[in-house]
Amino acid sequence: MSKDTNTTKLSPVMQTYNRFPLTLKKGKGSFVWDDNGEQYLDYTSGIATCNLGHIPEAVKTQVDSQLEQLWHCSNLYTIPTQEKLAQLLTENSCGDQVFFCNSGAEANEAAIKIARKYAKDVLGTDAYEVVTFSNSFHGRTLATLAATGQEKIQQGFAPLTPGFRYLAYNDTAALDSLVEKQTCAVLLELVQGEGGVVPADQVWLDKLATICKENNILLMVDEIQTGIGRTGTLFAYEQYGIEPDVITLAKGLGSGIPIGAMLAKEHVAKAFTPGSHGSTFGGNPVATAAAVATIQQFTETNVLEKSNQIADYLYEQLQKLQAKYEVIEAVRGKGLLIGIVTKGQAIEYVTKAREDHHLLILVAGPNVVRVLPPLTTSKQEVDQFLKAIEAVFSE
Ligand SMILES: *Cc1c(COP(=O)(O)O)cnc(C)c1O
Repeated sequence: MSKDTNTTKLSPVMQTYNRFPLTLKKGKGSFVWDDNGEQYLDYTSGIATCNLGHIPEAVKTQVDSQLEQLWHCSNLYTIPTQEKLAQLLTENSCGDQVFFCNSGAEANEAAIKIARKYAKDVLGTDAYEVVTFSNSFHGRTLATLAATGQEKIQQGFAPLTPGFRYLAYNDTAALDSLVEKQTCAVLLELVQGEGGVVPADQVWLDKLATICKENNILLMVDEIQTGIGRTGTLFAYEQYGIEPDVITLAKGLGSGIPIGAMLAKEHVAKAFTPGSHGSTFGGNPVATAAAVATIQQFTETNVLEKSNQIADYLYEQLQKLQAKYEVIEAVRGKGLLIGIVTKGQAIEYVTKAREDHHLLILVAGPNVVRVLPPLTTSKQEVDQFLKAIEAVFSE
C-alpha cells in the first residue's frame, strides 16, 4: 500500500509536457513574473490565448460581475451570456449558429460530428470522410489526432479513428484527388500554427473552395489559433475572400478563460438537433462572459487597427534583421502570428531568449521560432523584443 519513497521527487502531474524550468505566478499586459519576482516579456500569449494581454481590465470587469451572479448552470436552461456571445459571433462572421464547448479539440470534434450528420440528414448520403492536410494540427482527442496530419501526434494510439484522409498542404495539383464518394468535408488551418507558421496559398485555397462548393463538400476552417484577431482580422478567412461552412474557435476566445466554439452556416447547423451533441461546461456563464467581453474589444475598440500597425513595424524590423543575420532564413506569417525560419535549432534560440534576455517565445517545428505577441503590445515593448531577439541571433 505504501508508495515508493524513492519517487518523492517525481511530480504528481503526468509528464505529458517538456516543461521549461520556469514557474509563472503573475501576469499583466505583455509581462509575466516568475516565483522569484523576475519579469519576462511574454511574446507567447499563452500560445495565442491571451490575445488582449494578461488580465485585460475590460474582460476582468465582466468576469468579476458574472462571478457575483452565477458560476454555472446546465444547458437545460437559457444562459444569457451564451446567447449574447452567439449573437456577437454570428453578427461578425459568416456563421449563423454556434455550439459551445471548452477547448479547441472539442470544437473540432463538434465540427467532425456535424459534418457526418450533415451528410446523412441533410444530403441523404453515406459520406463520412473528412480530408485534412499534411503538417496540420487539430487536437489530441482520438478523432482530432486522427484528423491531425502528423505521425508523431498519432504514434502509439492505434487504431486511429477512421474517416480521415490527408492531402499535401498548399499543393494545387493534389486537390485533383480531393473528391471521393465518401468525402463530406475538408478541415484546414489558414495559417498552420504548430506546423511551422505556414499561411495558406490564395490560389490553392480558391481552388479548394471551388471544389468543395461544386461537390457539396463542407469547407471547415480551424481558426483555433488564427482566430480572435491573431492574424490581423477577427477571423483569418476574411483575408482570403472565402466563406467557410464551419469555423472552429478556442484559444483567444476567452482571453485565457477556457472556452471553445463551433460556428456553422444555417444549412449545416440544422443537422444538430436536440440530443445530437452536448457538453456539461460548454457555454458556461463565466466562460461566455469572458468571451463576450473579449469580442467586444474587437467590435468596440480599435485594437485591431493598432495591432496591424504594430505588425507592419515588426515585420519591417524583422526583415532588416534577416538581411543582417545569416541564421535567419525567412520571416513569415500573418498579423501577429509570426514565424522566423532559422538555420539552427529553434529551441536553442528560444532557450537563449528566455535565459539571457527574459523574453518568452515559442517554437513551431524544429527550425521555426514562433512569436505571438499580445495584440495590445506597445511599440516600446516591440523595441524591447527586437533588441533581445537581435542579441539572440547575433551571438
Ligand atoms: C491549439 C490548437 C488546437 C487544439 O486546441 P486545444 O484547446 O488544445 O484542444 C486545434 N487546432 C489548432 C489549429 C490549434 O492551434
